[in-house]
Amino acid sequence: MAEYLKLFIDGKWIDGAASVRSLMNPATGEVIAHIREADATQVHDAVMAARTAFNETNWATDIKLRVQVLRKIADLLEMSRDEFACLETRNTGKPLRESELDVADSVSCFRYYADLIESKQPWQKEMWDGSKSRVVYEPIGVCGLIVPWNFPLLLGVWKLAPALAAGNTIVFKPAEITPLTLLKLGVLAQESGIPDGVFNIVLGDGPVVGEAMIRHPDVDKISFTGGSKTGKHIYTSCAEGLKRVSLELGGKSPLLVFDDVDVDVSVDIALFGAFFNQGQVCVASSRILVHEAIYHEFIEKLKHRASGLKLGDPFDPETELGPIVSATHLEKINDCIRDAQVAGATLLCGGTIAAELGPLFLEPTVFVDVHQDMEIVQEEVFGPVITVQPFAKEADAVRLANDTKYGLAAGVITNDLIRAERVARLLRAGTVWLNGYHTPHVEAPWGGFKQSGIGRELGPEGLTGYMEPKHINILP
Ligand code: NAD
Repeated sequence: MAEYLKLFIDGKWIDGAASVRSLMNPATGEVIAHIREADATQVHDAVMAARTAFNETNWATDIKLRVQVLRKIADLLEMSRDEFACLETRNTGKPLRESELDVADSVSCFRYYADLIESKQPWQKEMWDGSKSRVVYEPIGVCGLIVPWNFPLLLGVWKLAPALAAGNTIVFKPAEITPLTLLKLGVLAQESGIPDGVFNIVLGDGPVVGEAMIRHPDVDKISFTGGSKTGKHIYTSCAEGLKRVSLELGGKSPLLVFDDVDVDVSVDIALFGAFFNQGQVCVASSRILVHEAIYHEFIEKLKHRASGLKLGDPFDPETELGPIVSATHLEKINDCIRDAQVAGATLLCGGTIAAELGPLFLEPTVFVDVHQDMEIVQEEVFGPVITVQPFAKEADAVRLANDTKYGLAAGVITNDLIRAERVARLLRAGTVWLNGYHTPHVEAPWGGFKQSGIGRELGPEGLTGYMEPKHINILP
């Protein structure tokens, strides 16, 4: 029988007081757990537990304790990596080998931030000019962390590790349908000796549980990853209490393919960029821009390779694409496909359900003959659906690439490294991959230009985003 999942508040596992939600394995339709969701009072309890832990434990001030806890969590997570990877795949449908990468990256992230706060902190400064000045960085206080369902563990850890390392206390809200790995991380955190109330987990609907977090006067910062519409709402709501806010939002990332490349290699990179995690990736290379000299060869090869990608059981090592995460999300993707066809885009391949595998397996979908102002070119689909457009000159490619409200990531494929560097500097995006795609680096900042977000995760920027600078001036 599927288990009933609990909330984690003030070091205790308690039943939610609101409705019960059942979680399904999207690959099989099997019910894998039930959640008793939190109500607004329980969110308040979690915030107050975090506030008390911030004020009354030594978490905010004891770097040694924080280093020890972060390293212990990393060790415990590494020891149970297979269990975590399997759980992530059952809950999201992503291929197991992708979940394994997520767990390994999560371990590295905890270790990176433990090392960073233990090292001589480059952002602390001492200055002399007659008086002595010191600039120190302190935790912000109680942080509300809200994440989506596409990388439930990894995106959670990208927030949790730096927020804890900085000395904050946390109220964490996983996405409604994918809380399993994060709850398990709560168990590891408890085993690692984290003081009660430092890390709390509340489960439930965005408009109820998330809303109670963003409106709570005792939450000092909201760090959000999710859709741009929700992000704008959160930004507005947080303005009321002048909360600190960081937002990691949507994207419509271009991949520029120049005519000096091996077409087969560039098709491989495009497929990986576009269809990793069934395209349910904020930085997915959903707009492929190809030089006109190789355009026809490129789309023929892309069609052949995309149609041959192996959909199926995410636990099968041969599987390249699993199911879409939920029927609700699939419906949104199908609407985008239908609208693109009505608008006149040509379906090169895909667009149909591989019904023999189950109701949520969508074939990788490629559109050509698109115009820059079509929704399929401008709006995020967040699924295995991409467009391919030709370009004539480098300047045209850059113009098309930047002609979007988003600015999360981009890719450039060329053998001319001087051009690669030049184009990378012209692209308005937080990350640019040259001759590859999808490699986040824990030491480098991650985030968006324009409407893709505010602030950065990862790297030292990811840590200082959870800190307040303080100038202490000592007169002689
Ligand atoms: P979403 O905005 O619907 O939900 C994200 C989270 O916000 C969920 O936990 C949800 O419960 C919560 N939420 C919803 N309404 C809320 C409210 N009123 N107050 C507080 N919280 C609320 O997004 P989604 O559909 O789960 O995720 C997909 C989106 O996430 C895509 O747009 C994708 O690009 C984006 N994303 C961005 C990044 C990045 O790093 N920039 C990474 C992954 C996903």
